[in-house]
Amino acid sequence: MTVSHILGYPRIGAQRELKKATEAYWKGECPRSELEDTGRELRLRHWQAQQDAGLDFVSVGDFAFYDQVLNVSVTLGAVPARFNAQKEVAGGDVDLDTAFRMARGRAPSGEPAAACEMTKYFDTNYHYLVPELHEEQVFTLASNRLFDEVDEALRAGFTPKVTLTGPLTWLWLGKTKGRDFDRLTLLDSVLNVYGEILARLATQGIEWVQLDEPALVQDLPLAWQQAYERAYHRLQSAPLKLLLATYFGGLGDNLSLATRLPAAGLHIDAARAPQQVESVIDRLGPHQVLSIGFVDGRNIWRADLAALRERLLPLKVRLGQRLWLAPSCSLLHVPVDLAQETELGDELISWLAFARQKLDEVVTLTRLIDNRATPNDEQRLDEATRALDARRESSRIHQTVVSERLAAISPADSQRQVPYSLRAEAQRRALKLPLFPTTTIGSFPQTDEIRAARRAFKAGELTLADYEARMQNEIAYAVERQEALDIDVPVHGEAERNDMVEYFGEQLEGFAFTRFGWVQSYGSRCVKPPVIFGDVSRPAPMTVRWSQYAQTLTSKPMKGMLTGPVTILQWSFVRDDQPRETTCRQIALAMRDEVLDLENAGINVIQIDEPALREGLPLRQNEWQAYLDWAVESFQLSAAGVANTTQIHTHMCYSEFNDIIGAIAALDADVITIETSRSDMHLLDAFQDFAYPNEIGPGVYDIHTPNIPEVSWMVDLMEKALEKIPAERLWINPDCGLKTRNWAEVEPALANMVEAAKVLRQRY
Ligand code: GLN
Ligand code: ZN
Repeated sequence: MTVSHILGYPRIGAQRELKKATEAYWKGECPRSELEDTGRELRLRHWQAQQDAGLDFVSVGDFAFYDQVLNVSVTLGAVPARFNAQKEVAGGDVDLDTAFRMARGRAPSGEPAAACEMTKYFDTNYHYLVPELHEEQVFTLASNRLFDEVDEALRAGFTPKVTLTGPLTWLWLGKTKGRDFDRLTLLDSVLNVYGEILARLATQGIEWVQLDEPALVQDLPLAWQQAYERAYHRLQSAPLKLLLATYFGGLGDNLSLATRLPAAGLHIDAARAPQQVESVIDRLGPHQVLSIGFVDGRNIWRADLAALRERLLPLKVRLGQRLWLAPSCSLLHVPVDLAQETELGDELISWLAFARQKLDEVVTLTRLIDNRATPNDEQRLDEATRALDARRESSRIHQTVVSERLAAISPADSQRQVPYSLRAEAQRRALKLPLFPTTTIGSFPQTDEIRAARRAFKAGELTLADYEARMQNEIAYAVERQEALDIDVPVHGEAERNDMVEYFGEQLEGFAFTRFGWVQSYGSRCVKPPVIFGDVSRPAPMTVRWSQYAQTLTSKPMKGMLTGPVTILQWSFVRDDQPRETTCRQIALAMRDEVLDLENAGINVIQIDEPALREGLPLRQNEWQAYLDWAVESFQLSAAGVANTTQIHTHMCYSEFNDIIGAIAALDADVITIETSRSDMHLLDAFQDFAYPNEIGPGVYDIHTPNIPEVSWMVDLMEKALEKIPAERLWINPDCGLKTRNWAEVEPALANMVEAAKVLRQRY
């Protein structure tokens, strides 16, 4: 019979129980025992769901109070010295609070210390804690949590398969500290501990351990490919079976490596890379199990069970008992349970599957291809087919105007009328800005009053008119403050926006919003991505009246504020029935209309934020250019319809520009503001080396801390910038939006920033 399993389940709980419990624990509102109880209840509930669905294993090891990569670091004793946990590590039992201090710098017990760095897990929006690696570091088994959870599952009568980040992916995700060195020099010591872990799991009676090795879908240097061989030859001596799990893409040039490794089983992603299945089977060892992930673990669309059955039947013939089925990757990346969504409407609901529903899909598929389908399976098959047929034809999805408009796009639509140098002259005459113009990135503090007003409005306690009046007051306040501060290009402050994507999604056709569709982003933080289900269009202007109102309050040029098409796409669940680039272009055209309406309403400076442009880069470098081509074109489509005198800004808040500097230049925004204040202006090197031609505002005020930057400090930073970029092309601004700060911090900081600009104007 075909084995069904999953690579991991979301741990936050359908009601975000884990978030609530950990946050209460951190605040000292509940004792450790209560937090542990919540963890245990959630694990048991999730295992029960997997067993009830009919999976052959339950997944153990996917639970974490903060992050599964951090769990492995703790288990390997990789706790940086500043956390003073040498004794805990030596005793083989690192405390949970130590793990929390690594994650967040502080915990209810233990001394605070600088938290470990956090970054995105491959191309997901999930953030993991970066392992800190030191030359000649020695690893040692330093936690029993995994074994305790295995016992817990066994005692409750479940059949566990253990999941653990694999040794090479763990090292691949790590960063060297101190003198730079080759991370692979640590592999032997890491493998010693993995060997110990596997041996212990075997004594507990575990048959299968899944080692997650998604690094295998990336471009690996030769030394790393060889290290894979070395590592898995060593680990194969463990007295249990290893399932090597790869996901988020195809194996590509690592295909023969991955199939050659001596693991009892291999899992491959057939949602992202369906074309690799046959070539993997061709190379598979005669006894190796192949786990295939056709059910998409990264998206929320219902699987086409009928089509998958057809696709799987010949594979079943080839693989027989060696075929396993699972979702493509851990279900960590999708919301927990669709059954909770009561307000999406039956039609949309029938098109979706969240984590709980995906369990059923996998189990039903195995029974369908094994010819042991129950009446319930037949019904699921029918329902899926009907829902998918309806979805293909639904008038809610397809809008002829949108497709016609897309088909009519011409190259001229994504080009400004004249080159930047001529626009710059026209804008200089029209906007009359001083040298080193000052501006901010868009948002001003989201105060308690603003949030309270929004909550009251959503709860029906405040009328639309009252709510809008309050937002206008906030806008008026922000503009008045900026006037007093003498900021050259003010903004309206974004008081009316809950979130930079949701705000637009709620006003665009083709978007839907779930009530409980939370996905873990990092630690206790969850996001609720919008669902793009249909053709995107803009029925009415979205931001114009706010910007227009703000413009009436000042004679300075008010900067309009929009989120760019790539960022809206990147931070949503995107429809799977057309290429992502098509959806992105649709969003771009909707934003283009907004840009032109803003311009018509007298807004002559318009910022289109693209903080997610870089994170959309594919995992394989040979796919980067194709992505960047359509991403850049989408931005241009949204921006390029304006007159020469209208100044387009964009903003990006990250620190790695080298890889995409050509694409950034191709956006052809008149001004780009970037996050630089922590890098001592070294980030500008990429712009200098590329001879970036347009204007740049390198952030001089680090908004991530409450500290007030000194005038002299900002002047010095700008002097460094001036070594790389000529004065006429430099702006002065903070790093990013100010929404997380309060006015008491923002006002003196901006006053200093404006003062710094004035000092510089004296000098240049
Ligand atoms: N305009 C947005 C703001 O100021 C930009 C946020 C971002 O870059 N993430 O909040
Ligand atoms: Zn930013």
